Amino acid sequence: MSQPSPEVYEQGKGMDAHNQVMRGIRAEKDKHYDPHEPTRVWLDEDNTPDGVVRSLTIILNTGGCRWARAGGCTMCGYVAESVEGGSVAHDALMDQIDVCLEHEAENAAEPADLIKIYTSGSFLDEREVGAETRQAIADTFADRDRIVVESLPDFVDRETIADFTDVGLSTDVAIGLETATDRVRHDCVNKYFDFADFEAACAESRAADRAADGVDAGVKAYLLLKPPFLSESEAIDDMVSSVRRCAAVDGCHTVSINPTNVQRYTMVDELFFQGGYRPPWLWSVAAVLEATTDVDAIVVSDPVGHGSDRGPHNCGECDDRVQKAIKDFDRRQDPSVFEQVRCECETTWDYVVDAETSYGMPLSR
Ligand code: SF4
Ligand SMILES: [Zn+2]
Repeated sequence: MSQPSPEVYEQGKGMDAHNQVMRGIRAEKDKHYDPHEPTRVWLDEDNTPDGVVRSLTIILNTGGCRWARAGGCTMCGYVAESVEGGSVAHDALMDQIDVCLEHEAENAAEPADLIKIYTSGSFLDEREVGAETRQAIADTFADRDRIVVESLPDFVDRETIADFTDVGLSTDVAIGLETATDRVRHDCVNKYFDFADFEAACAESRAADRAADGVDAGVKAYLLLKPPFLSESEAIDDMVSSVRRCAAVDGCHTVSINPTNVQRYTMVDELFFQGGYRPPWLWSVAAVLEATTDVDAIVVSDPVGHGSDRGPHNCGECDDRVQKAIKDFDRRQDPSVFEQVRCECETTWDYVVDAETSYGMPLSR
C-alpha cells in the first residue's frame, strides 16, 4: 500500500485547516478601496529610544498581505481593507503619501519627528512596495528623525534598511511576532514563521545599525495578548515570557503589546459570535506590564477598542481609567500608575485568571 506524502497527510489539518477556514471567512468581504488613498492616517505621539516624540502614522494601501490571501492569521481582518487585484503602482502609492503629507500640514503646527508606515502586510516585501517606491519614500521623509516600517521577518535585510539610514533616518522595523512561543504562533495565530526568524531579522537590523552613520537601526516587536484558544491565564503567561524573550534579543529595543480585538471577517469573529471568545481584560494588560518592568526594553501597549465588547475590556465602569493608566505607563514606564486604579471587577478577573481553562471558556463577558 502506498504511503501518503507529508503534504497529503497535512491536508485539512493544522495550518492547512486554519487557512481553509480563513479563506472562506474572508471571501465574505465585499469592500473596494481607492489605490490613491491611504487606508488611514493620523497624528499621535510615541515613546521611542529618543524619548516621547510627535508621530505621523500612515497605513498605506498596498494590496494587502500575501499570507492573508492564503488564509492568514486568525485575528487579522486587515486584508478586508486592501485594494482589489493585489498590487498598487508606484504613482498611486506616492499619491497616498501626498494625501498623508497634506493631512499633516492641515492638522499639525510642524512636521512630526517620527513617521510610522504600516501596510497590513510587509512594507519591505518588494512585491508589495517596490525598491523605487521605497527609495522615494525614504527621500520624502529624509528631513525627519526616525521612521518605523512594518515587515514580516523574511524581508528584513541590512541593505534594505540602509535605504533609510543612508538618508539620515533612524530606522526601526516593526515585526508582528505576536508571541515568542512557536506553538502558540503556529496553532493559535496561524502565523507561519518561527522565533528564530525574528532573531535573524534582529541580527540584520544590528548589522544595519553598525553600518549606519550617526543614526540607529532597531526592531520593535508587536505581540498579541490573548489569541484564540488560550485562557486568560495562559494568555498572560505567554505574554510575560514573550516580552522577556524579545527584550533579551540584541537589537529589539521596544516591545508593543496588542490586546486582541474582534475584527470582522476573521476566525476570532466567528468564535466570538458563537460565544467562544472574550477579548482580554485590561487588568491582564496591566498585569503583563507590571510583571515585566525589569526588562531591558521599552514595553508599551495601546489597547484598540478598549471598553467595548469586541475590544479589550473590564466591567464597563473602570475601562477608561485603566486605559489612561496604560497610556501613562507607555510614556513613563512607571508601574506605580496602576496603584491608583482599583475596581470591584478585579475580584471577577482574579477568579477568571484562576479558574478559566482553555476547554471551558469564556468564564465571563
Ligand atoms: S496579521 Fe499580518 S501576516 Fe497575518 S494576515 Fe494580517 S497582515 Fe498578514
Ligand atoms: Zn471594573
